[in-house]
Amino acid sequence: MIYVIIEKDCAACGLCEDVCPASAVSSAGIYKIDPALCTGCGECADSCPVEAIQPCQQD
Ligand code: SF4
Ligand code: SF4
Repeated sequence: MIYVIIEKDCAACGLCEDVCPASAVSSAGIYKIDPALCTGCGECADSCPVEAIQPCQQD
């Protein structure tokens, strides 16, 4: 399991980026989690003040 940032809920505060290098701003200024780097630890979800980071089931 990895985590994803729900774009419509994200306030672009940047806290998750401070927590984890897998979370970064894309060229469009939108925060995304790199699925290749995410280990599913959940720390970023705990850091997000608006609960925009949620677990995502992979195929
Ligand atoms: S779940 Fe863990 S590894 Fe994945 S983006 Fe969040 S803090 Fe980083
Ligand atoms: S901590 Fe939450 S609101 Fe802030 S940039 Fe990350 S996903 Fe968006």
